[in-house]
Amino acid sequence: MMDSGYQLHVTGARGEGVFATRSFHIGETVMVGVIDRELDRNHSHASQVGAQRFVLHGGLVTKVNHSCDPNCGIRLNAGGAHDYVARKLIVAGQEITFDYAMRNYRVDHFAAHCLCGSPHCRDRITGWKDLPAHRKADYHGFVAPYLTDIDNQRAPAIRPSATATWPSPR
Ligand SMILES: [Zn+2]
Repeated sequence: MMDSGYQLHVTGARGEGVFATRSFHIGETVMVGVIDRELDRNHSHASQVGAQRFVLHGGLVTKVNHSCDPNCGIRLNAGGAHDYVARKLIVAGQEITFDYAMRNYRVDHFAAHCLCGSPHCRDRITGWKDLPAHRKADYHGFVAPYLTDIDNQRAPAIRPSATATWPSPR
């Protein structure tokens, strides 16, 4: 059997997680996402895959845990689902993680404290909307593209290229 490169484990306090069974270099696709079904709104297990589009992913990608300093980022694949792409070198045995803020603009559903244990832990699992600017910069190239699109639409004044093309006010 071909090694997919990851497998599901049950660990202590954090429950299930997905762990690498081989190494992945930065930029390598670690897991390929598949959409299970469409949703009519955001909820606790929803993946945002477009500005107004929410889905449930299928398969093991749904078992990947959040970290506030994850080793994977998100890339939209041809099917409109999320692939996980290594943003750090991953070695066999490491847990595969991503940041919910790389995927969902708003995260309103997690009341509990984050257990990721990272020095970057922000305690509450927040969406992209609430991510500090320096963390958004750290995640550059590893977040779903509609998140930065929403930011750009909300703050056109700080985009010189956008203001330059706008008609002047009358
Ligand atoms: Zn955390």
